[in-house]
Parts: sequence; structure tokens; C-alpha cells
Amino acid sequence: MIPAAPMKALREIESMKINGSSRLLTADWVLPVSGPPIEDAAVLISDHIDWVGKLSDLPANVRQTLAKRTNSYGHALITPGLINLHAHLDYSHLHGVDCNSALFTWMRNLLKNSSSWSPEDFAASALYGAKKAAEAGTTFIVDSSFTGNSAQALAETGLRAIVGLELFGSSEVHADSIWQQWLSKYEKLNEVNKARARGLITLTVAPHAPYTVAPALWRQAKNWCAKNNLKLTAHIAESSQEYEWIKAGNTELDEYLAFVRSLYAAGSQSLKDYDYLKDVRDTSWRARGGSPVTHLADSDLLDKNTLAVHLVHASTDDLGILQKAGATVAHCPRSNSRLRNGRARIENFVSASLPFAFGTDSLASVDDLDLRAEIRAALLIHRAANPDFQFTDDDALKACTLTAARILDRQHEVGTLEPEKKADICIFSLERATRNPVSALFHESATVQDVFVNGVQIVRNGVASRI
Ligand SMILES: [Zn+2]
Repeated sequence: MIPAAPMKALREIESMKINGSSRLLTADWVLPVSGPPIEDAAVLISDHIDWVGKLSDLPANVRQTLAKRTNSYGHALITPGLINLHAHLDYSHLHGVDCNSALFTWMRNLLKNSSSWSPEDFAASALYGAKKAAEAGTTFIVDSSFTGNSAQALAETGLRAIVGLELFGSSEVHADSIWQQWLSKYEKLNEVNKARARGLITLTVAPHAPYTVAPALWRQAKNWCAKNNLKLTAHIAESSQEYEWIKAGNTELDEYLAFVRSLYAAGSQSLKDYDYLKDVRDTSWRARGGSPVTHLADSDLLDKNTLAVHLVHASTDDLGILQKAGATVAHCPRSNSRLRNGRARIENFVSASLPFAFGTDSLASVDDLDLRAEIRAALLIHRAANPDFQFTDDDALKACTLTAARILDRQHEVGTLEPEKKADICIFSLERATRNPVSALFHESATVQDVFVNGVQIVRNGVASRI
């Protein structure tokens, strides 16, 4: 008698169409995330996933048919591609530009070092970062880009992405005209993007932060995302300076904002003697009381499309407000630590049922674009600060795949290895056999070997190439 599970597998195999683009991937372990790890397993792919199971459940004639189109990885893990919820690929060539300063000194250095870059400089920087992300096992990335150059870099690398074109503007009076300028930039970029990205890249808006975007302008972005069913990604409650600035004012942030406004007005004779500091201190929503989150909530700027990046300085009440609004969080612990912004209380995110997953932030503030390194750091930071907090390797794997896909409303197409989903897959090779495949992914010398997006191989033997 044939057991029930193999019977089901056989029926699935009989019904599947093996075509010219079919490829069989085999390894010691498949980590589907939708279920427990499968040993001695295989994944059959075309542009999507056709079948996942134990290799021994595939009939001999199917294996024979696919013999020349089988990648046998041996000691390796096959996982869903990893999903990075926050980066700035534009700034990748600023890797190591300032590894010691706190946020606002670091941002001054970032701007000083990139303000003279040409569009070609930004494009080369973004392409470098996109390749590094792919080579770290990422298949889907949410990027914030001032120039829009990252969309082209991502298309050339073959990654799936949501690119938020950054939005800045502190004038309530000029919010409409700033928004119109942003929209025309978006429309031009979107035309080009539609033609080149093969449906892999979605452009949206990224209001920079509560201290750089006027509520009237943020509202335009929020309403536009709601109308177009798009995510809105924004830095929220990243630093204590931001928290204080919204609540009661903060001198360091005043001075930083005055510096930025003068930097972008440089060369304008009429503004030579302009008092930028006074301009900043006159900002209508500065020192309004409350936190960055209550500021956004009171201005009706939060909804289910909001992807809040960082969220370090947020009370349990703030987390409740975000959860009620349907918002989600990108957690970037290495960037928060290096830039001295503190520790986001992810144990409170869990208690508040506020969905979160991981982002690396940019190469200007972290050592690499490797989500597994981000997670290793997170496990150490949070366990050191709160020994009672339970967050395991299994939780981490789910966060950077299925949970991240859910946060982006893409769980129907990516985030697990299940039939019908897109073939966004990563293969990590191991130095030896393991009995603990999920822990091996994070804590042993697992290295990225191959990466597929939509069944197209974008990384081969650890190296990304242009598609
Ligand atoms: Zn950022």
C-alpha cells in the first residue's frame, strides 16, 4: 500500500507540466517556511514553483527527464529568497564613509560626500549595492531612493523591489507645488521603469521623516498611496533628537536642518543672508508636544500602507496607535546601534501585535547588505538587553521571508516555497552536513551559492551579474 503523503505527491507530479524551462534543485535540506524543514529534498521550478518535497517522492521517470536540468547542491539549504525591508542603494559607494559618528553628524558627512555626485556616480553606487544585496541572498528589497537611480540598478540586477522615491518639503504653504514636482518626477521614472523592469519593480513614495516633511505634503503622499494601493515607507522615531524636536524642540536637529536647507540653497544669491535657523525654529509642527507617532496620528497620516522604518523611540501607546492603524515596521538594529540611536523594543512590537521584519539600511551605516548578519546582530542585541525575550532562529527565518512578504502584501506570490508562488529562491551551501538546518542558516558558515528571481538565475556561485 502506498502511504497517503506519497500518493498526494504523485498526484501533484502527474498534474504538473514539465516544460523546457523546468529545473530541479536538490539539496540536503529545503526550508519551505510554510512547513517544517524537509530533508533530502527537491524544488521543481520554472518561473514559479511547481513542486516541493522529498526527492525520493519524485518518480524515476521525472528525475530522468530532468537529469540534465538538475542542480544537485548536496550539503546546502534551499530557502525562499530573503526580503530586505529597508535600504538606500544610492549611497552604497559611501560604504565606510563615517563609521563612528552619531546620526546627524553622520548625515552631514553623507550629504557633503555625495552632494557633488553626478547621476552616473549615483547609478554606479546603486548598481554596486544592488549586486551586494543579491549576493547576500536577497530577492526582494524595499529601497528609498532620492534620485530614482536604484530602480535601474535593481532592474539590471534582476531583483524584485519596491522603490520609494524620497519626498522632502517642510513648507506647508508650498506642499501642493512640491507634491506636483514629485509626481512629475515619479511619472517620468515610472514610464522608464515599466519598460525595463519586467513587472519586478514597483515605484512608490517615501516621505523622508516627520521632521523633514510637512503634514500637508505627507497627506498628499498618504492619499496617493491609498488611491493607488501602494506602500508608503518613511523613517519614523529613529532618534531621540527627532522625538525631542517634535515634542519640545531640539537644538542639534535645528542646526542640522538649517545646514541642509543652506546646503540645497547654496549658490542662490537672494538667500545669502537668510536665517535658516530661524526658519527651522518657525516650523509649525516643531515642539507641538507628543511623540513622532502621535504627531503623525493626530495629523491623520498613518494607515495600513505605512511601513515605519526604525521606530526606536516609541512608547507602548505609540505601538498601539500604529497597530490600530494597520501600520508595519522595518527593524534595522545594526544601523540603530552604529548611529547611536538606541534599541527598538521588538519585544514590545510582539506584545502589541505590530508586524515587523528586518531591513539592513544602507552601506553607509552598516557593514554589508546581508540580512542574515542583520539577524545575527539582532539576536545578540535583544538577548543581551532582555534575556527573557523569546525570539528564535525559526522566528528570524519567518520574519525575513513570510512576515516580510505579508508586510508588503505579497504573501500570495513570495515568502515561502509553495507551488504556484514565484520562483524566488536562494541556495546556501554548507561546509558539512547538519541536523539543525535553520540554525545553520544563521550561525554556521552557510554561504550564498545561487539565487533565482522568477526562476531567472541572478547569482551564480556567489556572484551577481547583469541580467
Ligand atoms: Zn533609511
